[in-house]
Amino acid sequence: MHSGLNDTERHLAWWHAKQGNAKIVIGTRSSVFSSFADLGLIIIDEEHDGSFKQQDGVRYQARDVATYRAKQQNIPIILGSATPSLETFVNAESGRYNLLSLTERATKVALPTIELIDLTRQPTNDGLSPGMLEAIKATLSKDKQVMLFLNRRGYAPVLYCKDCKQAAKCHRCDSHLTLHRRVNRMRCHHCGYEGQLQTRCGACNSAEMIDVGEGTQRVEDAIALRFPESTVLRIDRDSTSRKGELAEVLEQARSGKADILIGTQLITKGHDFPNVGMVGILEADQGLYSTDFRASEALFQQILQVSGRAGRRDDVGRVFIQTNFPENPFFEKVIKHDFIGFAKDLMKERKAAQFPPFGSFALIRAESPHQAQALQFLRKARHDIQPSDGVRLMDAVPAPMERRAGRYRAQLLLCSHQRSALNHTLALWLHLIATDKEAKKLANSVRWSLDIDPLDHF
Ligand SMILES: [Zn+2]
Ligand SMILES: [Zn+2]
Repeated sequence: MHSGLNDTERHLAWWHAKQGNAKIVIGTRSSVFSSFADLGLIIIDEEHDGSFKQQDGVRYQARDVATYRAKQQNIPIILGSATPSLETFVNAESGRYNLLSLTERATKVALPTIELIDLTRQPTNDGLSPGMLEAIKATLSKDKQVMLFLNRRGYAPVLYCKDCKQAAKCHRCDSHLTLHRRVNRMRCHHCGYEGQLQTRCGACNSAEMIDVGEGTQRVEDAIALRFPESTVLRIDRDSTSRKGELAEVLEQARSGKADILIGTQLITKGHDFPNVGMVGILEADQGLYSTDFRASEALFQQILQVSGRAGRRDDVGRVFIQTNFPENPFFEKVIKHDFIGFAKDLMKERKAAQFPPFGSFALIRAESPHQAQALQFLRKARHDIQPSDGVRLMDAVPAPMERRAGRYRAQLLLCSHQRSALNHTLALWLHLIATDKEAKKLANSVRWSLDIDPLDHF
């Protein structure tokens, strides 16, 4: 069961599950709500994956819903991952969950070696360092495929005026426009806005516009130029937008027809490319110094996931990571594939700060076409909320990216080391919003939502 089904197919699948004709149901996030005749076991694979959380509309975490269902029906649930979420890891450590460790890989192949390329000593050209280029050459000479990972599509993330230093910005978001060279368009990756390539600066009319930074398209061009004999395949949302195109491209990659694969996170998830001998991670630094406290956890998970694509069958794979911070202790653990060690360090930090999973967060988000309105609603909410013991209220603040798709966004964070206290506090406030005339009126003037256990804080 997945979003690609049409209504008839979906209905049929639902019916087969409900009637018990289907003995095994395999599904994506929303299939957690399926009806079953006689459910006996739930398995959540890659349980750490953020896509289990629905981020809009009805916000829910499918993994947690599944855990709840299993408990309700008194059946076992298995959460599987090589890089478990800290939430799950804490439950396993404390004995609430049984920890089953797999000490061997599915195939007998050893884990890939992970090496760092120090960008402070090796500057990049089009996102590629001399060390990375050399590794690519060596891999190709052994008739192995190369996979390059860069989580940024488009050609260049910023188009910049040389004269007045202004960047081309989306007029609806607080964000740069990404240059898409193939179609000569500028696109906003936040709201979907698309416009013509700017040849002149919008601020000073200078014609000196330069593109800065790399997306997958630029890397594709640079690689094609340096390795003209090799077939290059780019795998990102732009190259796979038609229905069925992704499956086609993945099959091309798997069959070994392409020598060098360049992709975003689309290539990381569970695909088996038997002939990939090397993985190059072009940029790993963004998650290291992020304001999002979950960024390093996600980065570690992503690195190990991409690394897992190297050397699946008969050979030990090699992984190269370009970074400006090779001395960061984060990489010490990465090189050893020591996610558990990393998770234990991270847990100490989270515990000290009372951050999840040791505390619970709830985020009230509001947005409005009028700048003051979203904040006004949240300030009133902050005033109205009667925090139970142990619940802390932060200030109502503009979102890190305040304007998106023409709407101003603001947020109010609530924290507590006790979930029940947090729930109680929110229930009281929700009751007030439903019954108090003034609060209700203000709430109706903005678009707002309540996110329990928010995964991103934007
Ligand atoms: Zn200018
Ligand atoms: Zn935009």
